[in-house]
Amino acid sequence: MSKVIPLSNPALNGTEMMYIQEAFDTNWVAPIGPNVDEFEKELAAYIGASHVAALSSGTAAIHLSLKALGISNGDIVFCSDMTFAATCNPIKYERATPVFIDSEPDSWNMCPEALELAFKKYPDVKAVIVVNLYGTPAKFDQITEICDRYNVPIIEDAAESLGSTFEGKQTGRFGYIGILSFNGNKIITTSGGGALICAHEDIIKKSKFWSTQSRDPARHYQHSELGYNYRMSNICAGIGRGQLNTLDLRVSQKTGIYSRYAALLGGNEFIRMNPVPSNCKANHWLSCLTLENGCPITAVEIMEQLEQERIETRPLWKPMSLQPFYADCDSVSVTTIPVCHDLFSRGMCLPSDVNMTASEQDRVCELINKLINR
Ligand SMILES: *Cc1c(COP(=O)(O)O)cnc(C)c1O
Repeated sequence: MSKVIPLSNPALNGTEMMYIQEAFDTNWVAPIGPNVDEFEKELAAYIGASHVAALSSGTAAIHLSLKALGISNGDIVFCSDMTFAATCNPIKYERATPVFIDSEPDSWNMCPEALELAFKKYPDVKAVIVVNLYGTPAKFDQITEICDRYNVPIIEDAAESLGSTFEGKQTGRFGYIGILSFNGNKIITTSGGGALICAHEDIIKKSKFWSTQSRDPARHYQHSELGYNYRMSNICAGIGRGQLNTLDLRVSQKTGIYSRYAALLGGNEFIRMNPVPSNCKANHWLSCLTLENGCPITAVEIMEQLEQERIETRPLWKPMSLQPFYADCDSVSVTTIPVCHDLFSRGMCLPSDVNMTASEQDRVCELINKLINR
Protein backbone atom coordinates (compact mmCIF):
# COMPACT_ATOMS: atom_id res chain seq x y z
CA MET A 1 0.00 0.00 0.00
CA SER A 2 1.48 3.36 -0.99
CA LYS A 3 1.84 5.94 1.75
CA VAL A 4 -0.66 8.75 2.24
CA ILE A 5 0.05 11.98 0.40
CA PRO A 6 -1.35 14.54 2.86
CA LEU A 7 -3.04 17.83 2.03
CA SER A 8 -0.77 19.83 4.34
CA ASN A 9 0.70 18.55 7.60
CA PRO A 10 2.57 20.52 10.25
CA ALA A 11 6.28 20.59 9.35
CA LEU A 12 8.63 20.82 12.31
CA ASN A 13 12.28 21.82 11.81
CA GLY A 14 13.82 20.65 15.11
CA THR A 15 14.53 24.09 16.58
CA GLU A 16 11.10 24.23 18.25
CA MET A 17 12.28 21.86 21.00
CA MET A 18 15.04 24.24 22.06
CA TYR A 19 12.54 26.96 22.98
CA ILE A 20 10.21 24.46 24.64
CA GLN A 21 13.13 23.02 26.65
CA GLU A 22 14.03 26.50 27.79
CA ALA A 23 10.44 27.00 28.97
CA PHE A 24 10.56 23.69 30.89
CA ASP A 25 13.98 24.46 32.39
CA THR A 26 12.76 27.80 33.70
CA ASN A 27 9.35 26.36 34.68
CA TRP A 28 7.51 28.82 32.38
CA VAL A 29 4.78 26.30 31.59
CA ALA A 30 2.02 28.88 31.78
CA PRO A 31 0.12 31.30 29.69
CA ILE A 32 2.28 34.34 28.98
CA GLY A 33 6.08 34.17 29.57
CA PRO A 34 9.34 35.04 27.79
CA ASN A 35 8.64 32.94 24.66
CA VAL A 36 5.38 34.84 24.17
CA ASP A 37 7.16 38.21 24.42
CA GLU A 38 9.89 37.09 22.02
CA PHE A 39 7.45 35.48 19.57
CA GLU A 40 5.50 38.75 19.42
CA LYS A 41 8.70 40.74 18.77
CA GLU A 42 9.93 38.30 16.11
CA LEU A 43 6.56 38.24 14.36
CA ALA A 44 6.33 42.03 14.40
CA ALA A 45 9.82 42.25 12.91
CA TYR A 46 8.99 39.71 10.19
CA ILE A 47 5.77 41.44 9.14
CA GLY A 48 7.11 44.94 9.66
CA ALA A 49 4.33 45.64 12.17
CA SER A 50 4.71 47.88 15.18
CA HIS A 51 2.63 45.80 17.63
CA VAL A 52 1.47 42.19 17.89
CA ALA A 53 -0.51 40.28 20.55
CA ALA A 54 -0.10 36.48 20.56
CA LEU A 55 -3.42 34.77 21.28
CA SER A 56 -4.87 31.29 21.64
CA SER A 57 -6.31 31.17 18.09
CA GLY A 58 -7.01 33.14 14.94
CA THR A 59 -10.70 33.00 15.84
CA ALA A 60 -9.95 34.68 19.19
CA ALA A 61 -7.98 37.35 17.31
CA ILE A 62 -10.96 38.07 15.02
CA HIS A 63 -13.27 38.19 18.03
CA LEU A 64 -11.07 40.73 19.84
CA SER A 65 -10.68 42.77 16.62
CA LEU A 66 -14.45 43.15 16.44
CA LYS A 67 -14.58 44.13 20.12
CA ALA A 68 -11.79 46.66 19.58
CA LEU A 69 -13.88 48.25 16.81
CA GLY A 70 -16.87 48.38 19.16
CA ILE A 71 -18.98 45.99 17.08
CA SER A 72 -22.13 45.05 19.00
CA ASN A 73 -25.73 43.94 18.81
CA GLY A 74 -27.27 44.51 15.38
CA ASP A 75 -24.21 46.12 13.72
CA ILE A 76 -23.58 45.15 10.12
CA VAL A 77 -20.18 43.69 9.24
CA PHE A 78 -19.15 42.87 5.66
CA CYS A 79 -17.17 39.64 5.28
CA SER A 80 -15.66 37.65 2.40
CA ASP A 81 -18.23 35.05 1.36
CA MET A 82 -15.73 32.36 0.39
CA THR A 83 -13.85 31.55 3.59
CA PHE A 84 -13.65 29.28 6.61
CA ALA A 85 -16.48 29.77 9.14
CA ALA A 86 -13.96 31.02 11.72
CA THR A 87 -13.82 34.34 9.83
CA CYS A 88 -17.47 35.19 10.45
CA ASN A 89 -18.47 33.22 13.57
CA PRO A 90 -17.07 35.96 15.86
CA ILE A 91 -19.49 38.44 14.19
CA LYS A 92 -22.25 36.26 15.64
CA TYR A 93 -20.50 36.03 19.04
CA GLU A 94 -21.11 39.79 19.28
CA ARG A 95 -24.69 39.46 18.00
CA ALA A 96 -23.83 41.53 14.96
CA THR A 97 -25.04 40.77 11.41
CA PRO A 98 -22.70 39.53 8.69
CA VAL A 99 -23.30 40.46 5.04
CA PHE A 100 -21.25 38.30 2.70
CA ILE A 101 -19.35 39.80 -0.23
CA ASP A 102 -18.70 37.69 -3.32
CA SER A 103 -15.29 36.75 -4.76
CA GLU A 104 -13.79 38.09 -7.97
CA PRO A 105 -12.22 35.76 -10.56
CA ASP A 106 -8.70 37.31 -10.58
CA SER A 107 -7.76 36.36 -7.01
CA TRP A 108 -10.85 34.53 -5.65
CA ASN A 109 -10.86 37.18 -2.90
CA MET A 110 -13.39 39.91 -2.06
CA CYS A 111 -14.71 41.55 -5.23
CA PRO A 112 -14.17 45.36 -5.08
CA GLU A 113 -17.24 45.95 -7.28
CA ALA A 114 -19.47 43.82 -5.05
CA LEU A 115 -18.04 45.66 -2.02
CA GLU A 116 -18.93 49.02 -3.57
CA LEU A 117 -22.46 47.75 -4.25
CA ALA A 118 -22.77 46.52 -0.65
CA PHE A 119 -21.78 49.96 0.71
CA LYS A 120 -24.63 51.49 -1.31
CA LYS A 121 -27.06 48.96 0.13
CA TYR A 122 -25.76 49.13 3.73
CA PRO A 123 -24.31 52.63 4.33
CA ASP A 124 -24.31 52.00 8.11
CA VAL A 125 -21.86 49.07 7.95
CA LYS A 126 -19.33 49.17 10.81
CA ALA A 127 -16.42 47.00 9.59
CA VAL A 128 -15.19 44.89 6.66
CA ILE A 129 -13.39 41.55 7.16
CA VAL A 130 -11.22 40.77 4.12
CA VAL A 131 -9.72 37.28 3.77
CA ASN A 132 -6.55 36.36 1.83
CA LEU A 133 -7.75 33.02 0.52
CA TYR A 134 -5.28 30.14 0.31
CA GLY A 135 -2.48 32.68 0.85
CA THR A 136 -3.28 34.98 -2.08
CA PRO A 137 -3.59 38.64 -1.05
CA ALA A 138 -6.86 40.43 -1.79
CA LYS A 139 -6.89 43.57 -3.99
CA PHE A 140 -5.99 45.94 -1.16
CA ASP A 141 -5.36 48.92 -3.45
CA GLN A 142 -9.02 49.00 -4.54
CA ILE A 143 -10.55 47.64 -1.33
CA THR A 144 -8.69 50.15 0.86
CA GLU A 145 -9.69 53.04 -1.43
CA ILE A 146 -13.37 52.05 -1.16
CA CYS A 147 -13.33 51.49 2.63
CA ASP A 148 -11.43 54.76 3.21
CA ARG A 149 -13.98 56.63 1.11
CA TYR A 150 -16.77 55.26 3.32
CA ASN A 151 -14.61 55.66 6.43
CA VAL A 152 -15.10 52.04 7.53
CA PRO A 153 -12.21 50.03 9.06
CA ILE A 154 -10.84 46.82 7.56
CA ILE A 155 -9.99 43.71 9.56
CA GLU A 156 -7.53 41.72 7.45
CA ASP A 157 -7.93 37.97 7.97
CA ALA A 158 -4.39 36.89 7.07
CA ALA A 159 -4.82 33.49 8.78
CA GLU A 160 -3.78 31.70 5.57
CA SER A 161 -1.35 34.26 4.15
CA LEU A 162 1.58 34.73 6.55
CA GLY A 163 4.62 35.39 4.35
CA SER A 164 2.62 36.67 1.35
CA THR A 165 3.12 40.20 0.04
CA PHE A 166 0.96 42.71 -1.84
CA GLU A 167 2.97 45.34 -3.76
CA GLY A 168 5.97 44.30 -1.66
CA LYS A 169 4.31 44.72 1.75
CA GLN A 170 3.60 41.76 4.05
CA THR A 171 -0.04 40.78 4.53
CA GLY A 172 -1.45 41.30 8.03
CA ARG A 173 -0.80 45.06 7.85
CA PHE A 174 -3.42 46.13 5.31
CA GLY A 175 -6.31 46.56 7.71
CA TYR A 176 -6.76 48.76 10.75
CA ILE A 177 -6.32 45.39 12.48
CA GLY A 178 -4.84 42.20 11.03
CA ILE A 179 -5.08 38.66 12.33
CA LEU A 180 -2.99 35.50 11.88
CA SER A 181 -3.57 31.83 12.70
CA PHE A 182 -1.00 29.24 13.80
CA ASN A 183 -3.38 26.29 13.75
CA GLY A 184 -1.79 22.93 12.87
CA ASN A 185 -2.72 23.12 9.20
CA LYS A 186 -1.40 26.65 8.51
CA ILE A 187 1.96 27.57 6.92
CA ILE A 188 3.54 27.75 10.38
CA THR A 189 2.00 26.41 13.56
CA THR A 190 2.13 26.76 17.33
CA SER A 191 -0.11 23.63 17.52
CA GLY A 192 -2.93 26.12 18.07
CA GLY A 193 -2.67 29.87 18.22
CA GLY A 194 -3.21 33.21 16.59
CA ALA A 195 -2.14 36.83 16.64
CA LEU A 196 -3.63 40.29 16.44
CA ILE A 197 -1.64 42.98 14.60
CA CYS A 198 -2.27 46.70 14.95
CA ALA A 199 -0.32 49.93 14.48
CA HIS A 200 -2.06 51.39 17.53
CA GLU A 201 -0.47 50.26 20.78
CA ASP A 202 -3.59 51.01 22.85
CA ILE A 203 -5.55 48.40 20.86
CA ILE A 204 -2.86 45.78 21.47
CA LYS A 205 -2.82 46.64 25.19
CA LYS A 206 -6.61 46.41 25.36
CA SER A 207 -6.58 43.07 23.51
CA LYS A 208 -4.03 41.65 25.93
CA PHE A 209 -6.20 42.90 28.80
CA TRP A 210 -9.37 41.26 27.44
CA SER A 211 -7.45 38.06 26.61
CA THR A 212 -6.31 37.67 30.24
CA GLN A 213 -9.81 37.86 31.78
CA SER A 214 -9.92 41.68 31.91
CA ARG A 215 -8.23 41.82 35.28
CA ASP A 216 -8.11 45.33 36.64
CA PRO A 217 -4.77 46.47 38.09
CA ALA A 218 -5.58 45.63 41.73
CA ARG A 219 -4.20 43.15 44.26
CA HIS A 220 -7.55 41.36 44.53
CA TYR A 221 -9.34 39.87 41.52
CA GLN A 222 -11.37 42.79 40.22
CA HIS A 223 -13.13 43.04 36.85
CA SER A 224 -14.84 46.06 35.36
CA GLU A 225 -15.25 44.40 31.94
CA LEU A 226 -16.12 41.00 30.51
CA GLY A 227 -12.95 38.96 30.09
CA TYR A 228 -11.69 36.05 27.96
CA ASN A 229 -9.05 33.37 28.29
CA TYR A 230 -7.46 34.03 24.89
CA ARG A 231 -3.72 34.44 25.59
CA MET A 232 -1.13 32.19 23.97
CA SER A 233 0.78 29.82 26.26
CA ASN A 234 4.54 30.07 26.69
CA ILE A 235 4.95 26.51 25.33
CA CYS A 236 2.96 27.25 22.17
CA ALA A 237 4.94 30.45 21.64
CA GLY A 238 8.13 28.34 21.88
CA ILE A 239 6.92 26.18 18.98
CA GLY A 240 6.11 29.38 17.08
CA ARG A 241 9.60 30.81 17.59
CA GLY A 242 11.10 27.63 16.18
CA GLN A 243 8.65 27.63 13.28
CA LEU A 244 9.50 31.23 12.35
CA ASN A 245 13.07 30.08 11.64
CA THR A 246 11.83 28.21 8.55
CA LEU A 247 8.89 30.38 7.45
CA ASP A 248 10.76 31.70 4.39
CA LEU A 249 11.79 28.15 3.50
CA ARG A 250 8.14 27.00 3.76
CA VAL A 251 7.03 29.83 1.46
CA SER A 252 9.63 28.86 -1.14
CA GLN A 253 8.75 25.14 -0.82
CA LYS A 254 5.01 25.88 -1.21
CA THR A 255 5.76 28.17 -4.15
CA GLY A 256 7.79 25.36 -5.72
CA ILE A 257 4.86 22.97 -5.29
CA TYR A 258 2.49 25.45 -6.96
CA SER A 259 4.89 26.04 -9.89
CA ARG A 260 5.28 22.30 -10.42
CA TYR A 261 1.49 21.85 -10.49
CA ALA A 262 1.20 24.74 -12.94
CA ALA A 263 3.81 23.09 -15.18
CA LEU A 264 2.36 19.56 -14.98
CA LEU A 265 -1.37 20.41 -15.02
CA GLY A 266 -1.35 23.79 -16.77
CA GLY A 267 -1.13 22.13 -20.17
CA ASN A 268 -4.48 20.43 -19.60
CA GLU A 269 -7.15 22.48 -21.37
CA PHE A 270 -9.69 21.69 -18.61
CA ILE A 271 -7.53 22.83 -15.68
CA ARG A 272 -6.86 26.32 -14.29
CA MET A 273 -4.66 26.82 -11.22
CA ASN A 274 -5.81 29.30 -8.52
CA PRO A 275 -4.86 32.71 -9.96
CA VAL A 276 -2.36 35.07 -8.29
CA PRO A 277 -2.44 38.70 -9.50
CA SER A 278 0.93 39.95 -10.75
CA ASN A 279 1.32 42.72 -8.12
CA CYS A 280 1.48 40.22 -5.27
CA LYS A 281 3.44 37.21 -4.08
CA ALA A 282 1.38 34.45 -2.51
CA ASN A 283 2.75 32.07 0.12
CA HIS A 284 0.89 29.32 -1.79
CA TRP A 285 -0.31 27.73 1.46
CA LEU A 286 -2.58 25.47 -0.59
CA SER A 287 -2.42 24.93 -4.35
CA CYS A 288 -5.91 24.74 -5.87
CA LEU A 289 -7.47 24.16 -9.26
CA THR A 290 -10.78 24.68 -11.00
CA LEU A 291 -12.12 22.60 -13.86
CA GLU A 292 -13.22 24.37 -17.03
CA ASN A 293 -16.60 23.95 -18.69
CA GLY A 294 -16.81 20.76 -20.70
CA CYS A 295 -14.46 18.82 -18.44
CA PRO A 296 -15.61 15.18 -18.63
CA ILE A 297 -15.25 14.64 -14.86
CA THR A 298 -16.28 16.69 -11.80
CA ALA A 299 -14.00 17.91 -9.02
CA VAL A 300 -15.85 15.66 -6.55
CA GLU A 301 -15.22 12.62 -8.77
CA ILE A 302 -11.51 13.48 -8.97
CA MET A 303 -11.37 13.87 -5.17
CA GLU A 304 -13.06 10.46 -4.73
CA GLN A 305 -10.68 8.77 -7.15
CA LEU A 306 -7.60 10.31 -5.51
CA GLU A 307 -8.88 9.22 -2.10
CA GLN A 308 -8.77 5.61 -3.37
CA GLU A 309 -5.07 6.21 -4.05
CA ARG A 310 -4.59 7.60 -0.51
CA ILE A 311 -4.10 11.12 -1.83
CA GLU A 312 -5.71 13.81 0.33
CA THR A 313 -7.59 16.67 -1.30
CA ARG A 314 -10.29 19.10 -0.12
CA PRO A 315 -13.15 20.93 -1.70
CA LEU A 316 -12.68 24.71 -1.79
CA TRP A 317 -14.21 26.51 1.21
CA LYS A 318 -17.97 26.23 0.94
CA PRO A 319 -19.21 29.84 0.76
CA MET A 320 -20.86 31.21 3.90
CA SER A 321 -23.92 32.20 1.83
CA LEU A 322 -24.46 28.46 1.22
CA GLN A 323 -24.10 27.45 4.88
CA PRO A 324 -27.29 26.42 6.71
CA PHE A 325 -26.27 28.41 9.80
CA TYR A 326 -25.97 31.63 7.76
CA ALA A 327 -29.00 30.99 5.53
CA ASP A 328 -30.82 34.10 6.77
CA CYS A 329 -27.88 36.44 6.01
CA ASP A 330 -27.68 38.65 2.93
CA SER A 331 -24.88 38.30 0.37
CA VAL A 332 -23.85 40.75 -2.35
CA SER A 333 -22.60 39.84 -5.81
CA VAL A 334 -22.38 41.57 -9.19
CA THR A 335 -23.03 38.38 -11.18
CA THR A 336 -26.21 36.29 -11.57
CA ILE A 337 -24.47 33.23 -10.19
CA PRO A 338 -22.09 34.37 -7.43
CA VAL A 339 -18.46 33.85 -8.48
CA CYS A 340 -17.71 31.97 -5.23
CA HIS A 341 -20.61 29.54 -5.77
CA ASP A 342 -19.23 28.80 -9.23
CA LEU A 343 -15.67 28.34 -7.92
CA PHE A 344 -16.93 26.05 -5.15
CA SER A 345 -18.75 23.85 -7.67
CA ARG A 346 -15.70 23.47 -9.94
CA GLY A 347 -12.73 23.64 -7.58
CA MET A 348 -10.56 21.61 -5.22
CA CYS A 349 -7.42 21.94 -3.06
CA LEU A 350 -4.44 19.81 -4.09
CA PRO A 351 -1.91 18.09 -1.81
CA SER A 352 0.42 20.93 -0.78
CA ASP A 353 2.51 19.31 1.92
CA VAL A 354 6.11 20.56 2.05
CA ASN A 355 7.35 17.00 2.63
CA MET A 356 5.70 15.71 -0.56
CA THR A 357 8.43 14.46 -2.93
CA ALA A 358 8.65 15.48 -6.59
CA SER A 359 7.80 11.93 -7.66
CA GLU A 360 4.74 11.89 -5.38
CA GLN A 361 3.59 15.15 -6.92
CA ASP A 362 4.22 13.72 -10.41
CA ARG A 363 1.98 10.79 -9.48
CA VAL A 364 -0.82 13.12 -8.32
CA CYS A 365 -0.62 15.04 -11.60
CA GLU A 366 -0.49 11.90 -13.76
CA LEU A 367 -3.60 10.56 -12.03
CA ILE A 368 -5.51 13.81 -12.48
CA ASN A 369 -4.51 14.16 -16.14
CA LYS A 370 -5.45 10.52 -16.78
CA LEU A 371 -8.85 10.93 -15.08
CA ILE A 372 -9.65 13.96 -17.23
CA ASN A 373 -8.34 12.59 -20.53
CA ARG A 374 -9.91 9.14 -20.22
C1 LIG B 1 -7.73 28.96 10.04
C2 LIG B 1 -8.48 30.18 9.73
C3 LIG B 1 -9.04 30.98 10.73
C4 LIG B 1 -9.09 30.59 12.18
O1 LIG B 1 -7.93 30.38 12.82
P1 LIG B 1 -7.87 29.40 14.10
O2 LIG B 1 -6.50 29.64 14.61
O3 LIG B 1 -8.10 28.02 13.61
O4 LIG B 1 -8.92 29.85 15.05
C5 LIG B 1 -9.70 32.14 10.36
N1 LIG B 1 -9.80 32.50 9.07
C6 LIG B 1 -9.30 31.75 8.08
C7 LIG B 1 -9.46 32.21 6.69
C8 LIG B 1 -8.65 30.55 8.36
O5 LIG B 1 -8.20 29.78 7.36
